[in-house]
Amino acid sequence: MARIAWKAYIGEPMAIRPIQLLGSPSLRADCEPVANVRSPAVRVVADDLQETFNDLRSRQGMGRGLASPQIGAPIRIVYIEIDAPMFLINPTITDIGTKDFHVWDDCFSIPDLLVRVQRAHRIRIEYQDVSGNTRELEAEGSMAELLQHEIEHLDGVLIVDHPVGLDPFCIREEWNKHYAHAGKYSEPFEREASVVF
Ligand SMILES: [Zn+2]
Repeated sequence: MARIAWKAYIGEPMAIRPIQLLGSPSLRADCEPVANVRSPAVRVVADDLQETFNDLRSRQGMGRGLASPQIGAPIRIVYIEIDAPMFLINPTITDIGTKDFHVWDDCFSIPDLLVRVQRAHRIRIEYQDVSGNTRELEAEGSMAELLQHEIEHLDGVLIVDHPVGLDPFCIREEWNKHYAHAGKYSEPFEREASVVF
């Protein structure tokens, strides 16, 4: 996947950025590691991620995270907000548990489409915070799948790339009618087990 120069991004005022939608080459970038976490350039991207996320979530009434390629900045920064705002810089998955689960996943860059994907149910990640400190985080269930979703954005991977099971794509309106009652998550299962839908 192509590397896209992102330095051109710098020097513009902090702003809500246009969200990159499926088909945009920005979403397929192999994002650059952040070399200097405390640089003003990184601060600009981080602030824009947060501002753009807040705008999207307020308009759509949903959303838990955003990755920098989704605002056209192909560097390795993820923003998530569940209980509190959190920036993950250069996040990597360092360990996964033995169980997976199925998730009806969605993405700001692919509006109104849900895709059934398979994710590890428990992961450990390492990342840097905005001060440059290296941190570790263990996550399970919904937090684990969210982190996997956002981290794969940094490698140019999208949920449409790895659907699983029969009929894995569902427009939100249809999903609400046919699947919502069962929820977004399957029970965890051993990764090697074959699963019937
Ligand atoms: Zn996404």
